[in-house]
Amino acid sequence: MRILLSSICLETGTDIQLALYYLKAYLLRKEKRSIASSGVRIQVFNENRNDSDIVARIERLSPDLVAFSCYVWNISTILRICSLLKKLNPRITTVLGGPEVSSRAKELLAGQKAIDIIVRGEGEVTFASLAHEFLSGTPDLFSVAGISFRQGVDIIHNPDRPHLHCLDVIPSPYLSGLVDLKDKEIVDVPLETTRGCVFRCHYCYYHKNFPDVRYFSLTRVEKELKLILAAKPHELYLMDATFNANPARAKKILRMFIKYNRGANLHVELKAELLDEEMARLLFRARAYNIEIGIQSTNQKTLRAINRSFNKEQFARGIGLLNTYKLYYEIQLIDALPYQSYKNILDSLNWLYSLRPAKVIIFHLSVLPGTVLRERAAYLGIHYEGHAPYYAQRSEMITSGDLVKIERLRFAMDRVYDSAVFQKTLYGLVSSGEVRVSEVLEDWVRWEASFKRHGVAYVEFLNKKLPDFLHYVCRRHGLMRLYKSLLPDLQKIVA
Ligand code: SF4
Repeated sequence: MRILLSSICLETGTDIQLALYYLKAYLLRKEKRSIASSGVRIQVFNENRNDSDIVARIERLSPDLVAFSCYVWNISTILRICSLLKKLNPRITTVLGGPEVSSRAKELLAGQKAIDIIVRGEGEVTFASLAHEFLSGTPDLFSVAGISFRQGVDIIHNPDRPHLHCLDVIPSPYLSGLVDLKDKEIVDVPLETTRGCVFRCHYCYYHKNFPDVRYFSLTRVEKELKLILAAKPHELYLMDATFNANPARAKKILRMFIKYNRGANLHVELKAELLDEEMARLLFRARAYNIEIGIQSTNQKTLRAINRSFNKEQFARGIGLLNTYKLYYEIQLIDALPYQSYKNILDSLNWLYSLRPAKVIIFHLSVLPGTVLRERAAYLGIHYEGHAPYYAQRSEMITSGDLVKIERLRFAMDRVYDSAVFQKTLYGLVSSGEVRVSEVLEDWVRWEASFKRHGVAYVEFLNKKLPDFLHYVCRRHGLMRLYKSLLPDLQKIVA
């Protein structure tokens, strides 16, 4: 029997789909007498590849069972692939798992005849148990906890499977040699040291997949770090939901990283409020040049509605520490959250930019299946697309026109702040006390609307025009005296 574990990755995504390697590692441990490593292939396809290419490639591998790891960004493609695959070869058993399908099992099995089985929740043990049934030659699907499947016209939901208590029973994809760390194509290596999240944000599905926080042992994490870092990847991505939720443990892991590192950068997701001087210093020594910090909103009513805590003073102190150590990070906002207006977003931007951040970005809200936000969306007046990625279309506080304006603001933030060409000038303008960052960003949107040119050279063109933009802002706000003093520096940077 041949099993193919597959997924569709984003062009900008991580190089190794860790979920597939966990499935394979656990399956080989449980079924070592029934299946060889060569009988379980992993094949990930890039989102840019066309569907028929992917299907042809899968067909050439002649699998009996194909299992896809599904996320909000790849579910539409996977459903199309399953449909084409079944037309080509109805004998293939198709299995879907992952956060996107766990809460949608009934709806997907009812509407998509090309899907045979859905694995709900944590996948390793359930998938190994499912594969065991197929390997036996007479599969009894009723005996596999945690799956849903179709039988005739009925959809069967077997009972949920309890979560694993000890994560270390899943063999490490790295220590077991399943991942070829010498592969030159691999730039960024993901590593999970925990599963679950201590927080319960209402727009997020992550904690439903892993309702409690469990840890891989530090002994195992240390061995993995030693092996991975010896291969000198460009970057190691610690996938933990909030890496510093347990600060003492996070510091231990950072010390291990520093000890074994041979030039890799570190990518982590942090809560800024939990940073202290020691952790900032460790992050600096660990070359943490890619840090994500979710804040989502600074509006208290919004934060209460999405069940997030936020301490303004502690947050500002944490950002100050990251700045002191010159770490690169991005602070993330989300647009159409409950009770959040366009003005609230501008207020959040003004406050965040006053902290002199490395970068701020605004994500578009996805109203994900299985989340509390999705359950309450109608009550909260949030309208969203009926298909992945379930983008919010408008809410009681934000119109569809506001969302278009926010889209333009994203580009303005990139040009006025992130590109660094205009950053010093921006703070020069703001320090006058007569104009706010959000006004300069909105000025950019108005000013840029007069240009029709796009293409590769467009950004270069806009950079050259920045002195004109400065003139535009100063004229609008009666700041021509500032224009004269800020222009020479800006001209030098542009040149
Ligand atoms: S958004 Fe992040 S912090 Fe909030 S529950 Fe999800 S994983 Fe945890």
